[in-house]
Amino acid sequence: MTVTYDVEGFYAGLVEHGLIVPVGVPGAFGRGAVFEDVLERFDALVRRVGAPEGAESITFPPIVDRRVIEKVHYLDSFPHLCGAVQSFFGDALQALALAERVNRGQDWGDLLGQTGVVLAPACCYPLYPTLAGTLPAQGRLVTLVGWAYRHEPSPEPTRMQSFRVREYIRAGSAEQVLAWRDEWLQRGLDLLRSLGLPAQTDVAADPFFGRRGKLLATNQKDQKLKFEVLVPVISLTEPTAVCSFNFHQDHFGATFGIRTAGGQVASTACLGFGLERVTMALFKMHGFRPQDWPASVRAQLWT
Ligand code: ZN
Repeated sequence: MTVTYDVEGFYAGLVEHGLIVPVGVPGAFGRGAVFEDVLERFDALVRRVGAPEGAESITFPPIVDRRVIEKVHYLDSFPHLCGAVQSFFGDALQALALAERVNRGQDWGDLLGQTGVVLAPACCYPLYPTLAGTLPAQGRLVTLVGWAYRHEPSPEPTRMQSFRVREYIRAGSAEQVLAWRDEWLQRGLDLLRSLGLPAQTDVAADPFFGRRGKLLATNQKDQKLKFEVLVPVISLTEPTAVCSFNFHQDHFGATFGIRTAGGQVASTACLGFGLERVTMALFKMHGFRPQDWPASVRAQLWT
C-alpha cells in the first residue's frame, strides 16, 4: 500500500470511517468506538511491555493544584499553552449580570475568577509533590495515564487541545534515572517498530514561548534533555512525535524536596506515549479498517 501524506485528506478519512467525531472546536473531536478500541489495546500493550519493571500505578484527575504549576515556573516557559480553570464567585446580582451577558452573546470571562486548579499540561505534574521525602534505595517508578491540555487549537488532527498520555516516571539518582531512560528509549522504539511504524528517535526541544524560549530550546537540545520518537502521520518531512522522553535533572527534586536514599537531591525523568497520536499513526500506516491490518500487527494488539 502506498501511503500519501496530507492533513485534510487524513482528517476527512478519520471522520468518514467514524474514527473521530467533529464537535466544532478544533483539536477537541470525539473518539469513535473503533478508534478507542485501538487506543486501549495499544495502551495495554505498553503496560504488558513495562510490566516486568513493576511500576506503581496512580491515577490523577485531569486537573492539577495551581500552586504546583506556579512552583515549577510553567508560565515562565509556556504561558501560551496553559489552561487555567476559572469559575464564578459573585453574588446574586452579579450572577444575573453574568447570565445577561452570556445570553446577549457578549464576552463574560472578566466576570469569573481564578480557581485553585489548572488543567494538567502534562499528566505527570500532580505526581512530583507526592514524591517529597527520601526515596528508597532503588528509587521510585510510577505509571499513570491521563488527559493533558494544551491551548493549541488546530485543524491538524494530531495537534489536539486535549489528549491522553501513558506515562512512566522514574525518580532516583541521576545514574539510575538516565540508565532507565536509555533502556526505555530503545524499548519504545522497538515497540513502535514492531507495529509496523517507521519510528525514529531524535533530540527534541519543548515549544517554549518567545525569544527567550529559543535560547531555552537550544540549551535543552545541547544537553540532550529531551528525546522524541517520531513517526510520519501527516507529513513525511516533518514526522509527528508519538513518544517523548524527558530528563528533568534535579528540577523537580529540588522544587518538591525529593531526596535519594543517600541524601542527595533526586533526579527525575518521565516518558510518555501520546495515545491518540500512536493510534492515528497506526490508521495512517495500515489503513482505516483494523480488520485489514497486517497479521503481525493484529497479533500484538488483539491477543
Ligand atoms: Zn511527564
